[in-house]
Amino acid sequence: MLACPFHKRDPEKYGIQQTNSANGKKHKYRACTGPGFKSIQRLKEHLKRVHSPVQCNRCYKIFPGTDRATCLANLSEHQKESDACELGDASKKEGIDAVQWAALERQNRKKNQEAHKLEKWFEIWDVLFPGAKRPETPCEYAFLFPHFFSRNRNH
Ligand SMILES: [Zn+2]
Ligand SMILES: [Zn+2]
Repeated sequence: MLACPFHKRDPEKYGIQQTNSANGKKHKYRACTGPGFKSIQRLKEHLKRVHSPVQCNRCYKIFPGTDRATCLANLSEHQKESDACELGDASKKEGIDAVQWAALERQNRKKNQEAHKLEKWFEIWDVLFPGAKRPETPCEYAFLFPHFFSRNRNH
């Protein structure tokens, strides 16, 4: 099973204990914790559902909600305000932005996505976290061996 790359990168943030403070919904990142995803296709669906918040790319304010069109409309209103929002700290960027999605879609077109899924997973990792050290494996062993995982997390 393939792990959620966000969980792999930061199991504490993208774990079951996290609640979505914006709308009080519990366990926003429950699916990130495990058991994982059996195909790249499934993983991408998860990334789209959970890790693509509507967010201002200047101040990094998030526009939460269940209806994406409404969220996007709110964002668009926000960006049209005559007093431009302040440039925020880039570390507040959440999830996957449009540029990264375009890169992932480009990968999609290549053949044999599932036959080389470990390779593909690392390609996704590189798009999501440019310059970050790749984990040893894309597999979701954190679910099975949480202690092993947390001990080795800080390399
Ligand atoms: Zn996830
Ligand atoms: Zn803004």
